[in-house]
Amino acid sequence: MTKKCDKYEALFTFATDEEFRKHLLECEDCRREHEKMNRVSELIAEVKPQFAKRKDKYRNIKIACILCMVLFAGATFQTADNNYRIVEQIMYGEQLTPEDLGFPTDSYGLIMVDE
Ligand SMILES: [Zn+2]
Repeated sequence: MTKKCDKYEALFTFATDEEFRKHLLECEDCRREHEKMNRVSELIAEVKPQFAKRKDKYRNIKIACILCMVLFAGATFQTADNNYRIVEQIMYGEQLTPEDLGFPTDSYGLIMVDE
């Protein structure tokens, strides 16, 4: 009984639950092996949610980035649109009159020039 039992993996993989447990009760080597495995799986179970959380965090950052880009793009388009309207108003003179620009005007809205 000096040789270490190497049945653990085979039993874990191929034996039924009952056989496996029975052997664990009889064999100290496998019991130790099984404890190790339990610890590892506990560790994995402990670490797993953190990975999931981290993934979610990155996803949230991604969503935040997309939202920022959309908002920024929206603001840019809005500004461009406003600028376009101002250009249109100046070009076609629909809104801006000489009076608006600070020129002295007569009752017809024409610029008065003193001679
Ligand atoms: Zn064993």
